[in-house]
Amino acid sequence: MDRRQQKAISDWVSKGQVLFEEPLSRYTSYGIGGPAEVFFQLGDRDELAHMLKLASRETIPVTIIGSGSNCLVSDTGVPGIVISLAGRLNSFHIEGGRVTAGAGIALGYLVRQCLQAGLAGVETLVGVPGTIGGALVMNARAFGGEISTYLDRVRTLTSDGKEQVYRREDLQFGYRSSSFHPDEIILEAEFHFEAGSPEAIADLQKRFLSERKARQPLNQQSAGSVFKNPAPDVAAGMLIDKAGLKGTRRGDAEISTRHGNFFINRGNATAEDIAFLIKLAARAVKQQFGTQLDLEVKTLGFQPGYWNDAGLDR
Ligand SMILES: Cc1cc2nc3c(=O)[nH]c(=O)nc-3n(C[C@H](O)[C@H](O)[C@H](O)COP(=O)(O)OP(=O)(O)OC[C@H]3O[C@@H](n4cnc5c(N)ncnc54)[C@H](O)[C@@H]3O)c2cc1C
Repeated sequence: MDRRQQKAISDWVSKGQVLFEEPLSRYTSYGIGGPAEVFFQLGDRDELAHMLKLASRETIPVTIIGSGSNCLVSDTGVPGIVISLAGRLNSFHIEGGRVTAGAGIALGYLVRQCLQAGLAGVETLVGVPGTIGGALVMNARAFGGEISTYLDRVRTLTSDGKEQVYRREDLQFGYRSSSFHPDEIILEAEFHFEAGSPEAIADLQKRFLSERKARQPLNQQSAGSVFKNPAPDVAAGMLIDKAGLKGTRRGDAEISTRHGNFFINRGNATAEDIAFLIKLAARAVKQQFGTQLDLEVKTLGFQPGYWNDAGLDR
């Protein structure tokens, strides 16, 4: 990006913030990641639309992140503009069983507000990090409940800065997937929930949280599950465990001893260290069980073909 483009980007931003060469390790749950060429925390929707138009006019690549809890960012960082939505677009409104939430609101906030209002449904997602936008793109799911079940409408911004409204039936959601266009930005979503007993919801939340704590290394830096489960009754973590890889280390990266699908940063791991373990696990599972794993975690800033040698570029 040249000086003129840098100036064009920073000149008109007044409510938000533009940072150059900002380390993305500060914005990912792994605590890993090289710099964003431009890091943009928007002030409001209009600033966002303006930035998208500018990027499109100047053909500058744009990458969106929520709270970075499902991302592995390369050590060399991400070219172009990285737009961070965590804590931005944070409107929130409850009326009866209807909830409207901005994309940058934490999923945990929605879960807490539903408990307080006696609304049942999202208690299964207690403890899942991330924003509303990230939860919808990934169709966040836990203990049999998923976010898309409660969705009515979503407002998005296309890459040329135009607003679009979808009803639930216009969209497809699957296992850790959704039909949003990769360049589309979720702005706001409307949900509906049934009334429930706050005591019963609180009890369920307690149960789900303690099951989570028992199974997952929550006190260590990770991006949750690295791989998708290859089938509903075949867990990727179980295959990695059977391949004898739990506890395997590379530098400060480790395949968790608690959960075979959690790869953790013990302090100073690099993206390269985590990537090494990811490829090692994918190859071992393929070799020993004939199963090709797929990545759940979103990889940002890696060269095209980087994951090919482990069959992970599909
Ligand atoms: C300890 C731990 C436990 C976890 N447990 C679970 C679990 O039980 N179930 C589960 O489903 N996930 C789980 N995850 C993964 C993660 O929390 C979810 O995928 C979460 O929904 C990601 O939200 P995010 O805001 O952090 O998204 P990010 O990681 O920032 O981004 C994920 C993807 O969404 C896109 N995106 C984010 N916001 C927007 C937006 N507004 N518009 C358009 N695109 C957007 C990004 O471009 C990226 O492709 C866990 C993660 C951790 C660290």
